[in-house]
Amino acid sequence: ARRDASSAPITDGALADGTPVPLLANLGKPEGAAEAVELGAEGVGLFRTEFLFLSSSQAPTVEQQREAYTKLLAAFPGKKVVVRVLDAGADKPLAFLNDAHEENPALGLRGIRALRASEDILREQLTALAEADKATQADLWVMAPMIATMEETEYFVDLCRDYGIKTAGVMVEVPSAALLADRVLGHADFASIGTNDLTQYTMAADRLLGSVASFQDPWHPAVLRLIREVGDAGRINGKPVGICGEAAADPLLAVVLVGLGATSLSMAPTALADVRATLLQHSLDDARVIAEAALAANDAASARTAAQDAATRSK
Ligand code: PEP
Ligand code: MG
Repeated sequence: ARRDASSAPITDGALADGTPVPLLANLGKPEGAAEAVELGAEGVGLFRTEFLFLSSSQAPTVEQQREAYTKLLAAFPGKKVVVRVLDAGADKPLAFLNDAHEENPALGLRGIRALRASEDILREQLTALAEADKATQADLWVMAPMIATMEETEYFVDLCRDYGIKTAGVMVEVPSAALLADRVLGHADFASIGTNDLTQYTMAADRLLGSVASFQDPWHPAVLRLIREVGDAGRINGKPVGICGEAAADPLLAVVLVGLGATSLSMAPTALADVRATLLQHSLDDARVIAEAALAANDAASARTAAQDAATRSK
């Protein structure tokens, strides 16, 4: 899906009524930045820092990290770049952070929990991020994975402030955080919904296990209800709510997510073009009607069908 030199410039993400919906890239390496820009990414909605260090046995140094983050931020002058602090977990073990012997690692010491247990590593990462921010012109936002409580929200946001990070937020990927989103967004500057984990934890189905893969469907109305909670909380608090899980790459679901209150969408860069084209077919009012149709369904398959029917009627 590469643009050829003769094609028209890519427009920014927007609905049919002109409502902007910034379309951002999920990245795991600074080297992916050029392609993301070429495919029209308006910034980065999720930089997965743990991907840089999956093969490291030792914690990365501040210098190593500063170099990587500076490279990333330098590719997006004036643009928003959301960096996630290390998310060590069942699917992405980091030798220097994870205990490989947990019986149920998805429910264990992962994400922000693992970082707090090794707080020096978190502090070094925030140091490197603050230094890279000073050296570049991007608009750096920093967020924590696997936030489950208000106490974790306050801990992380306040720690970011100590390092001079201006925009500090949380990922909503645990149902408890979605259910308390009004309070979470009273304190955090923004939320970004990780639909992969939010679905896993809502449906109690391991996202890595093939035998329960049918439960891992973000169209499930239970997942959509939680997303609506976060969207409503964003509106009430005047705070942005992004989506950075795989759900944002499904064009029809992207419309539903905006209807539920998402203010930006982040995805694999190759998915940007289809999502951009589909958003342009619907107004914000349409998106809300389509989202209501999906919410009213009993299961994931009928939510998709209901949204499809509502979308066809609104075109
Ligand atoms: C998610 O859980 O949806 C997410 C974006 O984070 P990851 O896939 O890296 O766990
Ligand atoms: Mg996640």
